[in-house]
Amino acid sequence: MSADADRAELAELVRALQAHLAWERMCGAQVLPVDPAAVARAPSAAAPRAEARAPAPSSPPRSAPAPRAPEPARPPPRAAAPSFTPPPSAGQPSAPPPSPGPPSAPPPQRSVAHPQRPDVGPRRPDLGGQRPPLAPQPPSAPALVGAASAAPARPGQLSLGAWGALAAAPPPASAPPPPPVDFSAPADLEGLRALLGDCTRCGLCEKRDKLVFGVGDPAARLLIVGEAPGREEDRRGEPFVGESGQMLDRMLRNVLGFGREAVYIANVVKCRPPENRDPQPEEIARCRPVLHAQLRIIRPALVLVLGRVAFQALFDTSEGITRARGSWRTLRYPGGEARALVTFHPAYLLREPDAKRLVFEDLMAMARALADGGEAPPPT
Ligand code: SF4
Repeated sequence: MSADADRAELAELVRALQAHLAWERMCGAQVLPVDPAAVARAPSAAAPRAEARAPAPSSPPRSAPAPRAPEPARPPPRAAAPSFTPPPSAGQPSAPPPSPGPPSAPPPQRSVAHPQRPDVGPRRPDLGGQRPPLAPQPPSAPALVGAASAAPARPGQLSLGAWGALAAAPPPASAPPPPPVDFSAPADLEGLRALLGDCTRCGLCEKRDKLVFGVGDPAARLLIVGEAPGREEDRRGEPFVGESGQMLDRMLRNVLGFGREAVYIANVVKCRPPENRDPQPEEIARCRPVLHAQLRIIRPALVLVLGRVAFQALFDTSEGITRARGSWRTLRYPGGEARALVTFHPAYLLREPDAKRLVFEDLMAMARALADGGEAPPPT
């Protein structure tokens, strides 16, 4: 009775083991290192082992234990993170000793195969104890594997030789810095524009359509500074020609009494930031010498600073625009200085029409400064 129960348990284990091996063949995995040939012979081996484990007749009967099923659905461990793991040495114990079989049957081979080492596959009794030929593995990182002397690795893994080649390889060359340009040399705006050329001094050059240098009277007493070109400006190569530009034109003509041809208009950066984002500090810093050169050449008496980005970039400050709006500042640049009035950007007025009243007050202050011969009030 008890021997029958043991026999049934062993038969159940063998069936589960065969199902597991079928699963391994199906998904190409090897999790349970057992020789399939030995398993195929296992049913005949179960009986003597069960008999060997049968209790003595005097032992009390025991109930049949519940069969222990393997977990074929559990994912194989090596499918987790493909990282290099040193293979076990040949003498490293990796599995418990095999269970004894009948004398006529060879004991099941416990494989020491490592999932990442195809050169340590299981020995095959039917091949005289030799390891079977290995299926070719697809190369990973051909350049590295080609430089390696070790066996090819599985996809996503590097062999020992490849890791060595990677460590010995020189670091990738970084992008060369832009050649130095002396923006203080040109004496006029045409010369400055020619020197700027198709500028690639910052990453904004990659997405721009046209570089928006500036427009207006080179001898203007008033210089207007915005932050960056928008979509329409990028398309036409001229600053403030979109909706914001139309708003600026109305501000100039209705309050100051002249059009854009009487002033000079430029931006802090000359190329459009993608998706109209704010220009980054690095981009502003790369482009600042160009604006400084424009200021040095035009030498305006007054500057109208439009919006937070232009204000913070020109004065290198984190002060907010709401607090700074309406204030006069001294704008210093290499070779000169000017009085600057800070106000909101026309684009802000399109979103917040109530702010027009504040900008109107600022423009009236600018009109008075211009009427006084270009002299602005002392900085506040
Ligand atoms: S934003 Fe200024 S520095 Fe950057 S690429 Fe354009 S012109 Fe050159």
